[in-house]
Amino acid sequence: PQLVGQIAAGEVVERPASVVKELVENSLDAGARRVDVQVEAGGVGLIRVRDDGIGIAREHLPLALARHATSKIATAEDLLQVRTLGFRGEALASIAAVSRLELISRTAAEPCGWRLALAGGDEIPEPVPVAHPRGTTVTVADLFHSVPARRKFLRSERTEFSHIQHFLERLALSRFDVGFSLRHNQREAWKLPPAPGEDQWSQRVAVVWGKEFVEQALLIEWNHGPLRLWGWLGLPAVARRQGDRQWWYVNGRPVRDKLLLHALRHGYRDVLGGDRQPAALLYLELDPALVDVNAHPAKLEVRFREPRQVRDFIAQSVYRSLGQVRP
Ligand code: ADP
Ligand code: MG
Repeated sequence: PQLVGQIAAGEVVERPASVVKELVENSLDAGARRVDVQVEAGGVGLIRVRDDGIGIAREHLPLALARHATSKIATAEDLLQVRTLGFRGEALASIAAVSRLELISRTAAEPCGWRLALAGGDEIPEPVPVAHPRGTTVTVADLFHSVPARRKFLRSERTEFSHIQHFLERLALSRFDVGFSLRHNQREAWKLPPAPGEDQWSQRVAVVWGKEFVEQALLIEWNHGPLRLWGWLGLPAVARRQGDRQWWYVNGRPVRDKLLLHALRHGYRDVLGGDRQPAALLYLELDPALVDVNAHPAKLEVRFREPRQVRDFIAQSVYRSLGQVRP
């Protein structure tokens, strides 16, 4: 049974950043307002994600670690309108199969937290009481210790950490309402307090992308029918330091889509000429019926029902925004 567990785990758990992704998405699904991530040795030594979400009741703790057990889907209809990030009930079980996993959680109704610790495919023990505030802390230690083949596949500590950092930064710039912090080897990488008000968003962007970018970029907003585009449009002056970093979100989801990148390049080229590609951080919002964001979950691609309309709208918006600042 342990071998089967490890094979299945390979699909969910490719590298430390995949563990962070699954744990943090669980925290967001649990309504967390703060998510703190602590990493040792690029995540292979230790990954700890602590949140202040709704927690898991004592009697549900063993279920959380069981394969194909999810609290997020109860009926077949639910499956048609999933609003949570997870719903397959595989992540924790898969991670537990290739690490030493400890789960501590406390709901608002309980006087203390409950702890469950597993070591690679073990049977699930009884929870023991521990002190813990409301919310959940998951600690994943010795990732892939029992899977040398997977371990060999990993890059340097620094590279693995940079994948974790990139994932969290991408996420943090779409969930301004949630506070995040990230530590690596006892050192703080950054701390992003919750930024519920729009006037606070630039501060967060400044922490992640640098003050210079925020100060020089154009804050844009355009609407056209069911389409809305807003965000920070970099100018050539900031291009050098920011490189050609261009992050896109569609309906709040991080995506990397050719159509969007092309449209942006087109808009820039019409004003700036040549092939200049300043950095940009952009959010496209549209009627969910007009876009399929699940087209390629792994590749982060999306499928628009009216691709031409989207492309023209973006190119036009960029063109107009830049036109406004032209001498
Ligand atoms: P899924 O997210 O697909 O439901 P997971 O294996 O990621 O599956 O998690 C299993 C279950 O454990 C979830 O359905 C949820 O009930 C519970 N859970 C996991 N992490 C948390 C958390 N941070 N806060 C509250 N509940 C959690
Ligand atoms: Mg999950």
